[in-house]
Amino acid sequence: MRTALEIANLVRSGELSATEAVEESLASIEAQEPQIHAFNTVVADRALDRARAVDQAVAAGSDPGPLAGVPIALKDNMCTSGIPTTCSSKILDGWKPPYDATIVEKLAGAGAVLVGKTNLDEFAMGSSTENSAFGPTRNPLNPSLVPGGSSGGSAAAVAANMVPLSFGSDTGGSIRQPAALCGTVGLKPTYGAVSRYGLVAFASSLDQIGPFTNTVADAAVAFETIGGHDPRDTTSIPQPVPNVTEALERGADGLRVGVIAEMMGGAIEGFEPEVLARTREAADALAAAGAEVEEVSLESTIYGLSAYYLIAPAEASSNLARYDGVRYGNRVAQGTSTADMMVATRTAGFGAEVKRRIMLGTYALSAGYYDAFYGKAQRVRTLIIDDFNAAYEKFDVLLSPTSPCVAFPFGAKADPLTMYLNDVCTIPSNLAGHPAISVPFRTGANDLPVGVQVLGPMLGEAAIFQAAAVLETAA
Ligand code: GLN
Repeated sequence: MRTALEIANLVRSGELSATEAVEESLASIEAQEPQIHAFNTVVADRALDRARAVDQAVAAGSDPGPLAGVPIALKDNMCTSGIPTTCSSKILDGWKPPYDATIVEKLAGAGAVLVGKTNLDEFAMGSSTENSAFGPTRNPLNPSLVPGGSSGGSAAAVAANMVPLSFGSDTGGSIRQPAALCGTVGLKPTYGAVSRYGLVAFASSLDQIGPFTNTVADAAVAFETIGGHDPRDTTSIPQPVPNVTEALERGADGLRVGVIAEMMGGAIEGFEPEVLARTREAADALAAAGAEVEEVSLESTIYGLSAYYLIAPAEASSNLARYDGVRYGNRVAQGTSTADMMVATRTAGFGAEVKRRIMLGTYALSAGYYDAFYGKAQRVRTLIIDDFNAAYEKFDVLLSPTSPCVAFPFGAKADPLTMYLNDVCTIPSNLAGHPAISVPFRTGANDLPVGVQVLGPMLGEAAIFQAAAVLETAA
């Protein structure tokens, strides 16, 4: 399939119609969807209408924008006016938001055409898409394996060439980890660089929206399209989005790269040897391109996972309180009191992992344990930020594996803690609010793709794109 940039350039110059591009995408979805289940909803008629409007604009001599006619998919936790937005949860099954998320408006404004909403772990809690209430997504490279998660549907849709561009959300790794497991590029931007208005909240201090693509250049144009200040999101950074396309041609000459020792067989255990070997090769490739590569220790990152599993559930327990059958959520009328109705609604509406998070978070925030758990986790978060800031005085970017392992079989990580360990390399960037990108870098066990992670400081997207472009060429 063509890349997003190829489609947009052909559509803008009139060599390809948006209608043809969208028809191709819909045909690919129809052929593969029974096997893969990447989508919760496909909006074929609406997509074809929008594509015709793009074609009319081109015919009338106007430019529909940098993503003209590009078929796109959105994780089903982003609000789309009049189109179901379920978070892959029974509690929101059938809910149609009355408004569009900012990202939806920005993408439409750039000429992109939404073809559907993708499957996820319920409320974005998970690393395999097995927690979806509507059945799992399968990895297009091997349908007996998970695509990763929680944005597994978005990753699979791009890996299977159903669309060249999709979007996910990343709270602890949910864009980068599925990108790694499916062999696509996945970017988690700086916290506040992309508006969260209309993204259904999981853990508000960690959530960020970002793209999945087959090329680094497509991720760059996608980020430039969706980024920038939004007054409707109070955590949005009041600055223009950094230009990252410029950085793609810079090469790695003089780039200072720190390889995170803890994630390379140091203090953190459980990495597949092939994953570590590919990450070392990626470091060598950057050095060969002129980068100064050194190991660096970020000691507090080993506590990232523990801190995350207090902070994220704490915020989730608060954010998910709104699904009470009154304000939001499919009501189950039962018993004689409002409390009975709320208990029945939440018992029937939420799956096991969501309930686990709500209980963990409520406990961590409870009066007697607040200081011991939530308060301590926040202090660890500050230590992690300090460690990163010290590292970025010496380095432009940092390097690590994205996931400790390649794609794994369904049911292989049935114990929650085993599943949580998948995000050990991705979580620290969320806690710090920093950007990071996963780039496919050759293959590991069973010839499955390995993702290498490039991390950068606050608004350091240009540097991570610079390194990512070099890795893409070397791979
Ligand atoms: N897998 C992690 C979790 O379950 C991260 C999820 C995410 O980034 N949305 O919380």
